[in-house]
Amino acid sequence: MQIKDKVVILTGGANGIGAALARRLVLEGAQVVIGDIDKKSGQVLITELNQNNKTNAIFVFCDTTNFDLLHQLFDTAQNTFGGVDIVCNNAGIGQIDEFYDQTDSWIKIIDVNLNAVIKGSQLGIEFLKKRGGGVIINTASLVGFYPLKLFPVYCTSKYGVIGFTQSLRDLNNTDKIRVNAVAPGFVDTHLTQNIIKTPVVKCEKSRSIPFDEVVNAFIKIIKDDKLVGDTILIPKENLSQIISKS
Ligand code: NAD
Repeated sequence: MQIKDKVVILTGGANGIGAALARRLVLEGAQVVIGDIDKKSGQVLITELNQNNKTNAIFVFCDTTNFDLLHQLFDTAQNTFGGVDIVCNNAGIGQIDEFYDQTDSWIKIIDVNLNAVIKGSQLGIEFLKKRGGGVIINTASLVGFYPLKLFPVYCTSKYGVIGFTQSLRDLNNTDKIRVNAVAPGFVDTHLTQNIIKTPVVKCEKSRSIPFDEVVNAFIKIIKDDKLVGDTILIPKENLSQIISKS
């Protein structure tokens, strides 16, 4: 699939990996609809992306765990740009002591990282079908393959994303919708700043993955029709070090 003139829904696009992806998509000629809870960063990014009086991107306030707002995000894309071709379910959160603190704060992690990805894919299928097909990309994580004991719920959410993505393989045959995932190792973003105090993350910080490498995986998935139900791991050589420290 070519990216030029495609309409992309991108959740969690106001910061970090999502913002880097938004910049690249606009550069390649896409029209990007960013759904995020961070209005301030979202508006700043939109101003940057919409140079020369051209609307390449819009920001929509959207908490992806609110399924009415998520539906409105898709409706806005449809009404503004005429449809949806690509859906990136990228919004995600992490937290220190997500499980061992004896509270139920972990439920929010499953809601954002897994339940909203499932709902975003369900809506994605509904809207992509109207265009005769398209691409869904879910943001998983390296720890969706290799668990870290410090973050059991975050890991569970990402294992879920990978399994869910693989389970939708057949949509390529029935509806020409390719569902894939990207699974980055450590990237220096707000999310990891949040959990940076833990020893395992500290030692990863010095080897954080450049945004470009992660963005390239998204672009590869969009362009390569052979990728179906796959998860691209970035970078492969990170694995053994992370596992040995976990
Ligand atoms: P980030 O914190 O920089 O960006 C996440 C974005 O999601 C933010 O803009 C935030 O406002 C938004 N968001 C959070 N909750 C939301 C909600 N309920 N609704 C809508 N938007 C919401 O973090 P990031 O590292 O860029 O994370 C992007 C994705 O990459 C996440 O799914 C994360 O789990 C995944 N990931 C990150 C790393 C890493 O090392 N940074 C590694 C693997 C996977």
